[in-house]
Amino acid sequence: MTIDLEALYIDLHQHPELSFQETRTASIAAGHLRDLGLEVHEGVGVTGVVGVLRNGDGPVVWARADMDALPVAELTGLAYASTATGIDPSGNTVPVMHACGHDMHVTAMIGAVERLVAERSEWSGTLVVLIQPAEEYGAGSRAMLDDGLRDLVPHPDIVLGQHVTPLPAGTIGVRPGTQMAASDGLTVTLHGRGGHGSRPHSTIDPVVMAAATVMRLQTITSREVDPRDVAVVTVGSIHAGLKNNIIPAEAKLELSLRYPNDEMRDRVLASVERIVRAEAAASGAEREPEIRTDHTLPPTINDADATARVTSALQRALGEASVVDPGMFTGSEDVSWFARDTGAPLVFWFWGGVDPERFAAAMAAGTLDKDVPTNHSPYFAPEIHPTIEVGVTALSAAAREFLG
Ligand SMILES: [Zn+2]
Ligand SMILES: [Zn+2]
Repeated sequence: MTIDLEALYIDLHQHPELSFQETRTASIAAGHLRDLGLEVHEGVGVTGVVGVLRNGDGPVVWARADMDALPVAELTGLAYASTATGIDPSGNTVPVMHACGHDMHVTAMIGAVERLVAERSEWSGTLVVLIQPAEEYGAGSRAMLDDGLRDLVPHPDIVLGQHVTPLPAGTIGVRPGTQMAASDGLTVTLHGRGGHGSRPHSTIDPVVMAAATVMRLQTITSREVDPRDVAVVTVGSIHAGLKNNIIPAEAKLELSLRYPNDEMRDRVLASVERIVRAEAAASGAEREPEIRTDHTLPPTINDADATARVTSALQRALGEASVVDPGMFTGSEDVSWFARDTGAPLVFWFWGGVDPERFAAAMAAGTLDKDVPTNHSPYFAPEIHPTIEVGVTALSAAAREFLG
């Protein structure tokens, strides 16, 4: 009996779950893996699922799919759009949507495992399936590794993963070297001295300090980074004060930083620290600001030799023209911890989910950014077909490249 992958995708899409709360998704995935004859471990890294298919001697392939959704209210208007809600870590009820396509990742993984099981007489080795929680926190792969994943399954010879993206359906984007940026999330606390809004001279105003800091931070990428290089400094949140006539005592900024390598990372982090401290000093702050790192993601670096092998396998499976170099993405991923911790090579690729005609029309009109919703948009909606089929083919073909 074959698994109805369209029904599986729609079911997962209608029942999205926030990071580290993916209990329903995990048990559905575990059920399929068990039905397909895999040895299954659940609750690895809170909600993670691990499936092992031992099929004789040979290489060990770790194949990873993430499964969490986002606090986004879906606006796609699709018949199967999510109306789900969840409770976020602050205790707020929030809308939940698979706005990053991780429902597609789980679906394609189950389909690929089904195909590899059906073809098991043709290959030899061990397939390890990782259904990972909390990619959106950048924490799920670490959680699985820290929960003893490496003691549970054989050491990998290769780590594979894929992500659905706004490329035309049928197109694969992959490149050797840096595929996705490294990232740090920082919280900066600026200390002023609060007081009455009518008596600013008796205070040290952290609102003005924060405003000056935000503007000055923009000069890192515009004035300090070589224009031929890539770095991103985004201040995504700024909080200070409760009322118009009270000057607050502190302000908090949340920063998202992106860079292609450790050298740029060191440089941007040093610039952020220098500017934050200098603006506090310029305001006459009596207390040093605090800079806290909330999360750190390494760059996603594709191994050159393994990427060459996967690229030709994908070209054979999907046609030579289907595989393109998409350039480096400034987004970040936590998949590479699986490779970094084990020393195994990594290949991580993108596969398209956009109607090719729609993509071509937007490209011709120069309106790609406006007309083709990206991951995390409330309008993000991969075409079900052929996206599922291409994801299944890509993952199984890449795995077979190593398993024979
Ligand atoms: Zn995402
Ligand atoms: Zn994602």
